[in-house]
Amino acid sequence: VLAIGVAVTLAACSGGRGGTSSSSSTDNKGALVGVAMPTKVSSRWIADGNAVKSDLEKNGYKVDLEYANNDIPTQVQQINTMITKGAKVLIIASIDGGSLTDQLDAAAKAGIKVISYDRLLTGDKNVDYYVSFDNYKVGVYQANSLLTGLGVLDANGKATGKKGPFNVEVFAGSPDDNNATFFYNGAMDTLKPYFTDGTLVVKSGQTAFNQVAIQRWDPATAKARMQDLIAKSYSGGADVQGVLSPYDGLSDGILSALEGAGYGSGGKQLPIITGQDAEVASVKQIIAGTQYSTIYKDTRQLANKAAEMANDLLTGKTPQVNDTKSYDNKVKVVPSYLFQPVVVTKDNYKKVLIDSGYYKESDLG
Ligand code: BGC
Repeated sequence: VLAIGVAVTLAACSGGRGGTSSSSSTDNKGALVGVAMPTKVSSRWIADGNAVKSDLEKNGYKVDLEYANNDIPTQVQQINTMITKGAKVLIIASIDGGSLTDQLDAAAKAGIKVISYDRLLTGDKNVDYYVSFDNYKVGVYQANSLLTGLGVLDANGKATGKKGPFNVEVFAGSPDDNNATFFYNGAMDTLKPYFTDGTLVVKSGQTAFNQVAIQRWDPATAKARMQDLIAKSYSGGADVQGVLSPYDGLSDGILSALEGAGYGSGGKQLPIITGQDAEVASVKQIIAGTQYSTIYKDTRQLANKAAEMANDLLTGKTPQVNDTKSYDNKVKVVPSYLFQPVVVTKDNYKKVLIDSGYYKESDLG
């Protein structure tokens, strides 16, 4: 009898934040969390999904993890199903950040909290938290590594005095992904002085976001655009010396267009090509010297934070954020937790990717 009395007293004390929060946290034990990922085409999203799932399961939650094959109606359907199945939190990495407003409204109506995962959900007030990286900085780092690869900057970011001119081309990500403009703006703000003083030349003349964006981050589209640029702007004998690419999958398509046009393997020198995500295939290209750099974003950290936020929301705690101004989704500024990206080249991949346990040496062999 005494033991029961103590238990009841303790339960009552732990409900100090108020009756509702304590009763809902008890209710949420083992709750269902819906995790919506965009595609399995890129290995990063597979790593993200698996990590979020296992982190949530460690806290006793049930997880519905779905991949939408880069198809918006499929993602809409998957989220509708999560809501119907009674999910208490949704963690969403969207395909098109603005296409889920009906689902977000339905979630809010059902009392479901929404965490926007890596890509900002836009055009709706029912987005509770955002967890991502400093996406503007990703673009700055991509531009800086392009400049370093070309020899315009040294390893410490200092000007070497080398002024080119260097022929570069610019690529951006998918226009419906809020991150794409952050990457692009970070990179273009950094490169602007070098365009202005003639160190960098874009022979195609295509630098506006809408001219260089690649719908759905599709590698084949990037390859076709690179082939077109080579045919139209470089047929007179000039070489492409640098390509600003925002994502490893695009870098891969770009590289294959260049190789098809006689760059590499003893032919013309391959340009400096940037990237993002430290995907295994691209890290191998970096080791082989065919891609210059990538941006490493530790998806384990990101996943862990999303799972922690979900757990906080389900246990009546307020998730921790570190940015409350950068991510305006057109309706509200979404409180965010942002991690820091890291540039990876042949010089530091061992330290950054292997010593951290992100990859094993044998993954890259
Ligand atoms: C992510 C990048 C990724 C890109 C393509 C962006 O939203 O932030 O890490 O390279 O999508 O999947």
